[in-house]
Amino acid sequence: MNSTFELDKTYVAPTYNRFPVEITSGKGSLLYDINGKEYIDMGSGIGVTSLGFANEDWINAIEKQIRLVQHTSNLYYTAPCANLAKVLCQKTGLKKVFFSNSGAEANECAIKAARKYAAEKKGADYNIIVTLEGSFHGRTLTTLAATGQAHYHELFNPLTPGFVHTPINNIKALEETLKNNKVAAIMLECVQGEGGVITLEADFINAINNLAKENDIIIIVDEVQTGNGRTGKMYAYMNFSITPDIVTTAKGLGGGLPIGATIFGAKCQNVLSFGDHGSTYGGNPVVCAAALSVVNQINDSLLAEVTEKSNYIFNQLKGAKGVKSLSGMGLMVGIEPTSNASDIVKKCMEKGVLCLTAKNKVRLLPALNIGWPQLEKAILIIKQVLGENI
Ligand SMILES: *Cc1c(COP(=O)(O)O)cnc(C)c1O
Repeated sequence: MNSTFELDKTYVAPTYNRFPVEITSGKGSLLYDINGKEYIDMGSGIGVTSLGFANEDWINAIEKQIRLVQHTSNLYYTAPCANLAKVLCQKTGLKKVFFSNSGAEANECAIKAARKYAAEKKGADYNIIVTLEGSFHGRTLTTLAATGQAHYHELFNPLTPGFVHTPINNIKALEETLKNNKVAAIMLECVQGEGGVITLEADFINAINNLAKENDIIIIVDEVQTGNGRTGKMYAYMNFSITPDIVTTAKGLGGGLPIGATIFGAKCQNVLSFGDHGSTYGGNPVVCAAALSVVNQINDSLLAEVTEKSNYIFNQLKGAKGVKSLSGMGLMVGIEPTSNASDIVKKCMEKGVLCLTAKNKVRLLPALNIGWPQLEKAILIIKQVLGENI
């Protein structure tokens, strides 16, 4: 057996079902394993390496900062943190940012802020966070409680109390849920990622917006997977008529270094005050310099490219052999195959294309700047495998 497989199986906690592949390097949307086999990457490390591997500007930004100072703690000011916060506010029209290290942490911060806002405004009993069935918000005990998928909860009870799940695209049920609970916030993904690449109906998102505004309920949009250009807009909510009070993001923001961001609108911008929250690594200058390079590269021309490539993928796969349905937005694509999704992913990997699954679907999250030749080749192979596996 490959020695890394052996070491990993011996010493790394067995929480992941890894493919028997050891990745050693990458460039653009190509990855290489220890045997020199080349793969076209259609997963981006689950939506993280949004500008591919070894992006020149991103590496330069990291290199420059790491030679200056790699960490300071939040006792002092650093420019990358302040500049990144400014750019995120400019791109969203929101007001202030709290930095952490992951999607789950970004959501934890949003939940704390929403609870404090409601406690001060309406009373401490207004602490319920409403989330959607099929949602995914993270793996900490609180974000697991937020996650509307029971199978993640089993054996970890009791979870943090105060979360109520309501079905997607059901306005009546949402109205009931809001009527029957003392609600601080509604949290949603505009496109549910882990839940199966499911885009919420525009009418439902609109209803969330209106009901929340009428009742002074905080809207938290979880853009951990959908954010940072993934859907063809800077953030997925911008495709809909909803005005979030808090936006959380992570995954693609750092381009491959760990970062979480909780972005507050006018209503919540000063809710968390001195001593209310913190993170030792949060706002780390190297990570923020990397993220600044990422967000500065997500310009209108890259976003237009995302939409163009998305249209290409949907056109190629629509009605293709072995495809039952397609879902998603931008470069976040769900393919419901007529056969088993994991088998498809395995066969694609053998043929040099790396894909993901989400529930019963094959999920594609390629780099936003994937080259056309690689994209065309990958889709051709995915189409072939889907067609052979009916
Ligand atoms: C991945 C994901 C999270 C959790 O992010 P981590 O960085 O793994 O903590 C939360 N919400 C959504 C929508 C995600 O896709």
